Amino acid sequence: MGHVKLHIPGPVEVSDKTFEAFCRPMIGHRGQGFKDLYARIQPQLQTLLGTRQLVYLSTSSAWGVMEAAIRNLVSKKVLNCMCGAFSDKWLDVSKRCGKAADGLQVAWGSPILAAEVDRRLATGEYDALTLIHNETSCGLMNPLEEIAALKAKYPDVLFVVDTVSSLSAVPMNFETLGIDVLLAGVQKAFALPPGLSIFTCSPAALAKAGAAGDRGYYFDFLEFQKNAEQHMTPSTPSVSHVYALSAKLDDIFAEGLEGRYARHRRTNQMLRDWAAGHGFTLFPEKGYESMTLVCVNNGAKPGGRVIDVAKFQKLVKDQGILIDGGYGKIKGTTFRISNMGDETPESIQALIDVLNGALAKL
Ligand SMILES: *Cc1c(COP(=O)(O)O)cnc(C)c1O
Repeated sequence: MGHVKLHIPGPVEVSDKTFEAFCRPMIGHRGQGFKDLYARIQPQLQTLLGTRQLVYLSTSSAWGVMEAAIRNLVSKKVLNCMCGAFSDKWLDVSKRCGKAADGLQVAWGSPILAAEVDRRLATGEYDALTLIHNETSCGLMNPLEEIAALKAKYPDVLFVVDTVSSLSAVPMNFETLGIDVLLAGVQKAFALPPGLSIFTCSPAALAKAGAAGDRGYYFDFLEFQKNAEQHMTPSTPSVSHVYALSAKLDDIFAEGLEGRYARHRRTNQMLRDWAAGHGFTLFPEKGYESMTLVCVNNGAKPGGRVIDVAKFQKLVKDQGILIDGGYGKIKGTTFRISNMGDETPESIQALIDVLNGALAKL
């Protein structure tokens, strides 16, 4: 069978160039070659995340670091902001780590609003908060800046932000936001193969981790810090991923961050226009739509066109492209199409041509 191009919201299509970098000959992770590699990408990562702190490399999917944040930082109780499948799951993970945890739940497709976060944090019950910037399951982007602004009012609450499907696609600045942990996996907006995550921690987060007695080893934030100071990782990393990340960062800075963000705005707008042009509405509340995918409403909410998603998806796949048929409880009543990674106006136009051909056959 021929290759099916991925337009699902992660993992996304990986370029031949990235795979070439991925396949470079192996080196030892304690040798100078690896240290030089990590030292070279460190300032690029710091610029991308807008952090003065070191950026760590974790050989795990994003959930590893998401769980680690709970284990390293929560001693009193964590408030998990929930607005979709990934953010809902974080409450479950907090509890599985044996922590006291509450959910701030809103309906899928609705944003987490700063006023509600403020109201909950004002109880004084919490020492940590988790937020997913771009809730990939329903194509919703939360108002991160407004929520992060609360950090000034609650300096003792550690703010953990998942930017798995937004980092590198939209502007991000860890220092300006004033948050404590920023994390992302690389198989979404970075368009690398799955298996590596990157994250950065504030001095307050590191201090809090130091006081936590049961943070384990593999995901111990202090081990990441200690090793990163020597351009190393606590345990053997996926060196291949680091090669691929290095190649990608060179591409990102060659394109320029502003150009990259503009490209994502443009390709996302093309997909929004495509949906509207065919009578569809989007699932997320207006004003909170993601910039890296569209989650198209297909009966989950009143209004807009409704089609047979499974049939549509199959017709598109027959043309060599995979789109997503909806996540979890909104499977079939929504569908999702990604513009993350290396997609260009030209490649999105080619996708739209295929979508149009499939729609015509329904
Ligand atoms: C995909 C995703 C995750 C989980 O990533 P894994 O690689 O499966 O660990 C977490 N958060 C968001 C927002 C995601 O899109």
